[in-house]
Amino acid sequence: MPKFAQVAIALPIDRLFHYRIPENLSGEIAVGKRVFVPFTNRRVVGYVVGFSEEADVKEVKDIEGIIDKEPFLTEEMLKLTRWIKDTYFCSWGEAIEAAIPGGIKKGKKELGTRIKGSEAQAEDFLITGKHKPTEEQSKALKSVIETIDKKEYVTFLLHGITSSGKTEVYLQAIDHALGKGRQAIMLVPEISLTPQTVERFVSRFGDKVAVIHSKLTPAKKFLEWKRIKDGKADIVVGARSAIFSPMSNLGVIIIDEEHETTYKQDDVPRYHARDVAEERAKLNNCPLILGTATPSLESFYKAKHGEYKLVKLTKRIDDRLLPKVKIVDMRMELATKKRITIFSKVLLDAIENTLKKGKQAIIFLNRRGFSTFINCKSCGLVLKCRRCDTVLVYHFEEKKLVCHYCGYTQEPPDICPKCRSGYIKYSGLGTERVESEMSRQFAGAHISRMDSDTTTKSGSHDKILGKFKSGQTSLLVGTQMIAKGLDFPEVTLVGVVSADVTLNIPDFRASERTFNLLTQVAGRAGRGEHAGEVIVQTYVPGHYAILTAAKHDYEKFYEEEIKSRKELLFPPFVNLVKIVVRARNDELALKTAQGLADAIRGEDKEAKVAGPAPAPITRMRGYFRYNILLKGKDRTAMCALLRKVLGSFRKPHGVLIAVDVDPISM
Ligand code: ADP
Ligand code: ZN
Ligand code: ZN
Repeated sequence: MPKFAQVAIALPIDRLFHYRIPENLSGEIAVGKRVFVPFTNRRVVGYVVGFSEEADVKEVKDIEGIIDKEPFLTEEMLKLTRWIKDTYFCSWGEAIEAAIPGGIKKGKKELGTRIKGSEAQAEDFLITGKHKPTEEQSKALKSVIETIDKKEYVTFLLHGITSSGKTEVYLQAIDHALGKGRQAIMLVPEISLTPQTVERFVSRFGDKVAVIHSKLTPAKKFLEWKRIKDGKADIVVGARSAIFSPMSNLGVIIIDEEHETTYKQDDVPRYHARDVAEERAKLNNCPLILGTATPSLESFYKAKHGEYKLVKLTKRIDDRLLPKVKIVDMRMELATKKRITIFSKVLLDAIENTLKKGKQAIIFLNRRGFSTFINCKSCGLVLKCRRCDTVLVYHFEEKKLVCHYCGYTQEPPDICPKCRSGYIKYSGLGTERVESEMSRQFAGAHISRMDSDTTTKSGSHDKILGKFKSGQTSLLVGTQMIAKGLDFPEVTLVGVVSADVTLNIPDFRASERTFNLLTQVAGRAGRGEHAGEVIVQTYVPGHYAILTAAKHDYEKFYEEEIKSRKELLFPPFVNLVKIVVRARNDELALKTAQGLADAIRGEDKEAKVAGPAPAPITRMRGYFRYNILLKGKDRTAMCALLRKVLGSFRKPHGVLIAVDVDPISM
């Protein structure tokens, strides 16, 4: 029996720890089991990942106890978490803890644990039948089914416009996998935003489905996890972390809306569920299906270059037409009306028409609050957050100024805090203002608003949508929350108050995000028998993201966007690693960042290192932040380089360094 166990611990320390295996435990120890080990003055949970005859330190402590009778981590999970550690710059222990439910991390015994609360109740499910696939769907299914049968890893990019029948393809692929005695994972961006999709899975497969979402209590989460582990649920539908579901015999993995940024975790380990899924599909020899109407540039690039297999659904079911999109040039409105207006005449007329016909409209603006910019007309002072470099947003209902980045709030001042004048001007608009202007313009119309301010209470989300569905409200104003997945046949008009909100964000993905959002929100119109109309207001009507979205032309958008990515050397041509150095002291943060960038350049003359440069929002929650950006083709190599540099880098007290591989934003 080996003398020492190599133990992974969930600390931000990039190494394994050696512990002696006491005589009495030597028969029980095994890779994949959890153990209690002493660490500094505490007792912590660790994960046995290997053995060795030699210890790497002189004073080796003993393992105090073994938690599991049977190995808790499968070989697959060990490989997968190890890959995450190598790819996303975290410790192995941190990667393992991202993959398991809360209670388990604290060393809870898996067997014989009693959990209060009712077991998942066996309800009577209405099992709904499947549709006869269309020609395009059949073709897509055929290639997927082949790989399931051959136990082959392939990533399919299922590129299909909204309502082209992608979900039906997922359902039938899963059905096939189940028929072969295998299991399925289906990821959705966010459970609460996709109730209709989840409903379809439950009504097709009944209690074979486990739905994992963030609102489950830890006990409930654990129960679902256990149900999956025990083989009682064959299908998991869930958000990002559901990719780690403890299935032993996966037959297919599906990621719906693969372009969504919620698949990237913004905490350590900062993994992307799409990439983890790819790795898991490889380990299981099963297909991965990425479905979307607007593929991420990364995925479409891979499909074009043969790394993914492209499958297209080009027609809507029932041949319904895509809605006509009209672009309104707000510069012209400004020129004729001599003032900034919220709604163009075109949009106002269209709303009025819709209401007259007894139909419904969705009005979209991706910014919440009332006024988004408050300044003094006398001295020019702009009201900013105390802790961040951000402007405060006025919220009418609460009568408060709010920082959307840190949550800081303050009373709106009557007089300027700097020059004491009374000329405080409120400008810029958010959904709250849109709602109030609409109720002024359309007295008598029933309007509701959906954004993160109106949906904080649990159940409020369903309530707003319920009222809209039943026709109690006829106008729905909202942020990106209403852009996704909603399927209301009476909606014939979608108005985009400003397409420029996301376009103006200083980020290389701004155009992509704008194209995606416009396409998605446009897809909400005309889902019933009546044709839909979309009106997009903008000050940059010639921008390719807006033009191509209006024409529903993804490929053209891709062509334009990929050119600029290539020119500026951004993904998919390279992988990025963003290093954020922050401190409360500005000078200290900058000096440290400079030192670190120099050290990285010194270690690898080949590395493409940019910065340090101030982060787009330089001060956040009282911390000054500087970014260093690495560009390269090999994430693992970049991580290895950083491990080496940071391993010997002397980080001053009070400075924090975070590493983000494949960051979503700058
Ligand atoms: P997507 O996921 O691409 O938006 P869905 O799979 O939700 O598309 O299909 C859109 C609508 O068409 C749904 O109401 C679905 O039930 C229906 N549908 C899908 N496939 C078929 C089919 N082959 N025959 C008839 N109806 C279908
Ligand atoms: Zn002033
Ligand atoms: Zn703030």
